[in-house]
Amino acid sequence: MEKLTIDDFKKMISLALEHVSARSDEFSALDAVIGDGDHGTAIVQALKAVREATDRGVEFKTMLEDVGFNVMMQTSGSTSTLLGGFFLGMSDAVAGTELTSTEVLTMFRGALEGVRKQTKASKGDKTMMDALIPAVEAMEACGSTDIKKIMRVGADAALQGSLDTIQMKANFGRARNYAEKSIGFADSGAASWACMFGSFATALESGNSCD
Ligand SMILES: [Mg+2]
Repeated sequence: MEKLTIDDFKKMISLALEHVSARSDEFSALDAVIGDGDHGTAIVQALKAVREATDRGVEFKTMLEDVGFNVMMQTSGSTSTLLGGFFLGMSDAVAGTELTSTEVLTMFRGALEGVRKQTKASKGDKTMMDALIPAVEAMEACGSTDIKKIMRVGADAALQGSLDTIQMKANFGRARNYAEKSIGFADSGAASWACMFGSFATALESGNSCD
């Protein structure tokens, strides 16, 4: 797969909403270990806003900007702020109606930079960054020009990153107060973002194209 089209991107978002919605209770239960237990609801609400704006998209830069603002305005809390930063960062990085593999990497690097404008959390703090940072780094290190492969490598790294949070102590925000209690449970945000990346990869693999 050498080009990512707007339709491909719409499929990625659509499947992410479907898969994250299906596991929403699990993400809320993980959040309840050290937080208010609303993460499943929050991420589903945020992804609905993402999908609504993606559905009307015709060009990457304007669509991603619309997505970023839509998710930030329609929902509240850190989940929507982080997702908003993710898509606004993508919008800063790319333009056009289809992206090469290099541009896909640029888009995800931009997404990470966009999230970094919204949080100071870094790898090891037991947050969604433990899924996102390894995903983007693995995609860049992958060396393939096959976008399906790049996305799967990113998804696998996000999943591993999410599993790695199980043995971590929460080290960020209010969750820090429950640091010891958090050991033994994955971070809810890392788990939901890994699910999102997994959906992105699966959406591309389930296409009918043979390239
Ligand atoms: Mg919460």
